[in-house]
Amino acid sequence: MSNPSEILILCPYCLSPIGEEIRFCPVCLQDTSRDAKVEMTQAEYARQIKTACYYCGKPIPHLANTCAACRQKQS
Ligand SMILES: [Zn+2]
Ligand SMILES: [Zn+2]
Repeated sequence: MSNPSEILILCPYCLSPIGEEIRFCPVCLQDTSRDAKVEMTQAEYARQIKTACYYCGKPIPHLANTCAACRQKQS
């Protein structure tokens, strides 16, 4: 069970939930110290508009600039 008002810390590139202390995103492998991490609640995270990755077609958050599945930067 997850708490909908719990704040998630997301990678600024692929928008995967990562920890506050994480520097290199374990999902897209980018250095997250070069950009502010994104914070949103569980509820907001679940409600994000998804779009298909330009390369692999997996659904990714439409604000993500990097696909969490294939790590390609979206153009
Ligand atoms: Zn990432
Ligand atoms: Zn992809």
